[in-house]
Amino acid sequence: MEKPERLIVDGKRLDGRAPDELRPLRIKAGVLKRADGSAYVELGRNKILAAVYGPREMHPRHLQQPDTAVLRCRYNMAPFSVEERKRPGPDRRSVEISKVAREALEPVVFLELYPRAAIDVFIEVLQADAGTRTTGITAAAVALADAGIPMRDLVAAVAVGKVDGTIVLDLTSEEDQWGTTDMPVAIMPRKKLITLLQMDGHFTGEEFRQALSLAFKGCEQIYEAQKQALRERYSVKREEGE
Ligand code: UDP
Repeated sequence: MEKPERLIVDGKRLDGRAPDELRPLRIKAGVLKRADGSAYVELGRNKILAAVYGPREMHPRHLQQPDTAVLRCRYNMAPFSVEERKRPGPDRRSVEISKVAREALEPVVFLELYPRAAIDVFIEVLQADAGTRTTGITAAAVALADAGIPMRDLVAAVAVGKVDGTIVLDLTSEEDQWGTTDMPVAIMPRKKLITLLQMDGHFTGEEFRQALSLAFKGCEQIYEAQKQALRERYSVKREEGE
């Protein structure tokens, strides 16, 4: 797609959203039979699957920690998830995103309850349209809860940014590509703590405060959908006597 002249016309974005509006969001918990916990999230055109295995014995054993479990995280984009085929396998970007996703999730998991264990989190991007690291973290938090792993809080994440001089919530790939700033944020919604904050581009101090407050608003909405997905999951489990 060529760069449109303007990304915001009469206060509306290219997809018709207001600047503070999230894309349509759908979350389903417990979608994979063989994983201990799983979740599937659609946010606009993003389609992301998260799977959790563990707590289980850590291999290789020399990576075991005597006083805590280790959270391992792998973010992966399917070759067919983006317009231009993504070469399979890890690259600089996926290594970075795996690391920041792990750091965004670690603070909520009671890792100290499982010495020597590993908890493995897989984030698989099936279709990407910007905001995959944040949507992946949102999915992974639901998958961890679905695995029954004790947690202090959930983690909800969304990107905010600046497009045509306007602060916007939840950028699409067009907005990410042609906007001036992209700031992914993850929060622990109950405790209101930030567990991920990255920035590509620039904000003034005032813009930063406005963007952060918009990110918190977006995460609140995402948090409600996460809780709803978990409630639905457990009512089905109860009905099935699982
Ligand atoms: N993207 C792509 N090919 C790639 C990597 C990214 O087309 O190899 C697109 C994809 O839509 C992705 C977006 O660029 O969601 C923005 O990527 P970024 O690195 O900013 O991470 P994200 O916003 O997905 O967390």
